[in-house]
Amino acid sequence: MYYLSTRNKNLKLKSAEAIKNGLSAEGGLYVPSSIPSLSLATLKKLANASYIERAEYVLGKFLTDFTKDEISKCCKAAYGNGKFSSEKVAPLVKLKDSEYILELWHGPTCAFKDMALQILPHFLTTAIKKTGEKKTIVILVATSGDTGKAALEGFKDVDGTDIIVFYPSNGVSDIQQLQMITQEGKNVFVSAINGNFDDAQTGVKAIFTDDKAKKELAGKNFILSSANSINWGRLVPQIVYYVSAYIDLVKDGEIKMGDEINVCVPTGNFGNILAAYYAKKMGLPIKKFICASNSNNVLTEFIQTGVYDKNREFHTTISPSMDILISSNLERLLFDLSGNDDKKIARLMNDLSKKGKYTLDAAMKKKVSELFWAGCCDDYFTKKTIWKTNTDCGYTPDTHTAVAIDVYEQYKTATEDTTKTIIASTASPFKFNDSVLSALGENVDGKNDFELLNMLSAKAHMEIPKSLSELNGKEQRFTTVCDKENMLDEVKNFLGA
Ligand SMILES: *Cc1c(COP(=O)(O)O)cnc(C)c1O
Repeated sequence: MYYLSTRNKNLKLKSAEAIKNGLSAEGGLYVPSSIPSLSLATLKKLANASYIERAEYVLGKFLTDFTKDEISKCCKAAYGNGKFSSEKVAPLVKLKDSEYILELWHGPTCAFKDMALQILPHFLTTAIKKTGEKKTIVILVATSGDTGKAALEGFKDVDGTDIIVFYPSNGVSDIQQLQMITQEGKNVFVSAINGNFDDAQTGVKAIFTDDKAKKELAGKNFILSSANSINWGRLVPQIVYYVSAYIDLVKDGEIKMGDEINVCVPTGNFGNILAAYYAKKMGLPIKKFICASNSNNVLTEFIQTGVYDKNREFHTTISPSMDILISSNLERLLFDLSGNDDKKIARLMNDLSKKGKYTLDAAMKKKVSELFWAGCCDDYFTKKTIWKTNTDCGYTPDTHTAVAIDVYEQYKTATEDTTKTIIASTASPFKFNDSVLSALGENVDGKNDFELLNMLSAKAHMEIPKSLSELNGKEQRFTTVCDKENMLDEVKNFLGA
């Protein structure tokens, strides 16, 4: 298997190169040249396999230039060693008759980003070795909260890498800031910047495109790289948990091998739901993909009408990881649905960057609506769903997961489809404790984050994740606040370059 780009299908890269480069030179995203197949017989064979063994199998099918031993080392380093608080890594919880919650937040930072960012550093260092690269990789991240912390935890003390994270000084939650400024590890650096998330992101992009700076760093044996969600190395590990969840449903006697299921995903950048689509292409029996959005409902409209239009008001919601107007990974779906028509994709993406908008032709629109169903849910209904799920089912979802639960209810009402459905749960409720507690009718005014953690623990009858309770009293290592003009200096300073 080799990798091509959504805007240049004549490329032929090994997966190691695709992972090392991140983004293709002409701006397209890397995709595999074909999708490996997964038979029901194989699924049966994986029934008694651990999550790590299931991951080794699925990832081995896509990263064919990695040796078995290399894949195995990556999987064990990411999902073994007690890194995940659940032995199952991604456990399923039955909510009611046809509804199952797939908990993807048992990793070190309590968000689903860990599922990919725990393994990406190991893919990357393996890829660097395989491609003969000798320099130290420097990961630069601008974050609005979750990604920065997950990347820090993933890259912490990984040989041959350094990681530098910039976050907006007043743009992240207290818990998120604490998580980052207390980060451990010899190869990590965190700095706040005076400005908002866009300023941080613009500053990081400016460093990536600064040829003089890159040359200077290369002279000191450093090469810049990114950990953001368009890297194939972040997408491919997400296919695993859909395969694993299906096997678990069969094993638990909830479905029979071969039965179809639906998948409902709270969606932002379209990475998580796209991984489910690839799982279906491999052969996993999935009937419908239910795409759930918050008030930033650009995807809802797109799936319903075939028109993607980002020219709209941006809403700041209580599910901030889905506050996105450009869903980058959608490009991979469109490439596939167009029958690998790279010219068409380049045209659509050019429309998006010039006009902020593109329109699918009738044939593609039809394919999208056959596969996907979409709905959205505002903050009021998100909170109502948290309350209702807690009251009716004794389960307390975080704000993002609640959006998905609400949209799934909309789907059931609209279609009367009773197919068993997996709802992806993308964050621990403790990460968004103030919104969750106020949804449950608690007064959170004047309470600090540790008081809130305890309140939620009592209210939801859940244990506080250790990585969050341990933040109390941890040394605050990173107190730098810099101006956005000085980000490059901070980078050089830390690297001693
Ligand atoms: C990143 C994130 C999402 C969105 O996932 P995509 O793959 O970008 O669609 C949803 N929920 C949480 C908690 C996240 O951190």
